[in-house]
Amino acid sequence: MTDSIFAKIIRRELPADIVYEDNLALAFRDKNPQAPVHILVIPKEAIAKLSDAESKDHALMGHLLLTAKRVAEQEGLSEDGYRVVINNGPNGGQTVYHLHLHILGGRQMKWPPG
Ligand code: C5P
Repeated sequence: MTDSIFAKIIRRELPADIVYEDNLALAFRDKNPQAPVHILVIPKEAIAKLSDAESKDHALMGHLLLTAKRVAEQEGLSEDGYRVVINNGPNGGQTVYHLHLHILGGRQMKWPPG
């Protein structure tokens, strides 16, 4: 895949408000937040979108979900709840082609999403 804006954030070539990092994942605040708390969790490995993930990515996918849970706890969202979203491809509304989980919290979410 071609280099994305998130690859530049991983390499610290672009600034971001990073709230969590380990050897597999990075989490940073969305620059255009849609909720009082809006954080993106990304793998350091460049997977363009969820539908490109393969069996070999099994453990990484689990790690990303557990990282979202951990970051939500860190942000104080566990008690009131929060939403985790993955937009996949054009109809899913994906705009950055480096897999990412949105954590949205701090307000009541609506259903269905637009
Ligand atoms: O799921 P989708 O691909 O639409 O989400 C991309 C997200 O990345 C947007 O919420 C956008 O605000 C965010 N973004 C960011 N920092 C950038 C570029 C995009 O937080 N430099």
